[in-house]
Amino acid sequence: MTGESWCIVGGGMLGLSLAHKLAGPGRTVTVLEASPRLGGLADAWRLGPVAWDRFYHVTLLSDRHLRGLLADIGLEDQLRWKTTKTDFYSGGTFHPLNNAIDFLRFKPLGLVSKARLAATIIYGSLLKDGVSLEKIPVETWLTRLSGRRTYEVIWRPLLRAKLGDNSKLVSASFIWSVINRFYAARRAGMKTEMFGYVRGGYGRIVERLTASLRERGVACAAGAPVSAIRRHGDGFAVETQTGVQRFDRVVVTVPGALAARICPELTGEEKNALTGLRYQGVVCTSVLLKRGLRGRYLTYVADETIPFTGVIEMTAVVDAEELGGHALVYLPRYVPAEDPLFEQPDEAIEANAITMLLRMYPDLKRDDIVATRVARARHVMAVQRLNYSRSVPPMDTSLPGLSIVNSSQIINANLNVDETIAFATRAASHLVGQPGREAEPALDPGPTSGPARAAPGPVVDASAAA
Ligand SMILES: Cc1cc2nc3c(=O)[nH]c(=O)nc-3n(C[C@H](O)[C@H](O)[C@H](O)COP(=O)(O)OP(=O)(O)OC[C@H]3O[C@@H](n4cnc5c(N)ncnc54)[C@H](O)[C@@H]3O)c2cc1C
Repeated sequence: MTGESWCIVGGGMLGLSLAHKLAGPGRTVTVLEASPRLGGLADAWRLGPVAWDRFYHVTLLSDRHLRGLLADIGLEDQLRWKTTKTDFYSGGTFHPLNNAIDFLRFKPLGLVSKARLAATIIYGSLLKDGVSLEKIPVETWLTRLSGRRTYEVIWRPLLRAKLGDNSKLVSASFIWSVINRFYAARRAGMKTEMFGYVRGGYGRIVERLTASLRERGVACAAGAPVSAIRRHGDGFAVETQTGVQRFDRVVVTVPGALAARICPELTGEEKNALTGLRYQGVVCTSVLLKRGLRGRYLTYVADETIPFTGVIEMTAVVDAEELGGHALVYLPRYVPAEDPLFEQPDEAIEANAITMLLRMYPDLKRDDIVATRVARARHVMAVQRLNYSRSVPPMDTSLPGLSIVNSSQIINANLNVDETIAFATRAASHLVGQPGREAEPALDPGPTSGPARAAPGPVVDASAAA
């Protein structure tokens, strides 16, 4: 090994993107990932006869950082784009919510409520940053602007779809970031937002990114859970099941409580800041079908008797030929990391989800189901509570050379791969002591998109729900 040796703990998109930024002359980089595959939340798995993303992922035209990374690894020309539709399911009925006309026809809300909803979205999109909203509970802000009825009919199901019970704790900056992501494409001069995917899915992105890292000398080890990081001379001893390796610098990208556990020499205060982060998790049933449902990428489910908060019909974006002619549907339920749902057996979760899916779509028959599988992740994102940015653990620790860089530090932004890569770029500059941000990659507007959406309907940002 030559130059400074760096270890990145965690081989999710953040760890891999950091390695992509840090690899270069004067540094040797090793990524250690606990699970048997690299990719973290963005990895792929097998569902019956097909292999696709364990959790649903789409890319937006405005995802400039992700598209920059795809260009670096030779996959940008593999992006495929689609304009998709969104439904809102309440009272046993599907309500399309795609444009101003759908919005005007939307029966659960009267005209005044609709006008207040539109005004809330426009107002939110005009605010430059969400920090000032951090002190206001999201429910208070939305009720004040949109009215109680609009909150109960639209905003509450939308917040529940993404945050489950944690929606009671978050600040208004969360919804600001959702509105903001929705408007990013238009700010970038595009007429409308489209959803995209890379042919072969995220499994292919992770595989190509890993191959590119290895070509550049980065060692990427899966199945290598780090159990402890301790000072060792001028550097650190990193323990895994297979032994102890020594590095000059270590960057831990794993969620807060896990980071505190593997870094026993941090101060009590540092550990408290990490363990004090509250996480949102997800339990998501994937269903492979012989036929599609309604061809909507996202259906918000505003019915609390249904055990999932949305129906994501992936094949509304992804060509069915990628999935052997099948339709792929995800049924997520967002819950706090400590929710008892994580302990329920797969069979019970699947049975509940399928019963309700058949009830929602009466044309669908049990025979149409090819395969089901349950994915769980306890640490999807840190819940951005009131005044969150004041309590975020810093990257630098009391142990010079040991840094904590994880998604809890992505503040006032919607959590997604694009934000993760942007954050990796900022973090890498900080870690190597280069102040300032790297230049933003230029954005190709992508395929000619459809007509502009005339007026803002409700927030129908399917990827933000993702
Ligand atoms: C249901 C769902 C839908 C999503 N939809 C979209 C979407 O449509 N578009 C989009 O852009 N983004 C989407 N995302 C978000 C995206 O997947 C994440 O933002 C991104 O993958 C986070 O990467 P990360 O590296 O920060 O975290 P993670 O992927 O969680 O990576 C952390 C890694 O650390 C590893 N680790 C933990 N402990 C140890 C240890 N002791 N030693 C070594 N390794 C360890 C873990 O195994 C894991 O691989 C979605 C996420 C979910 C869950």
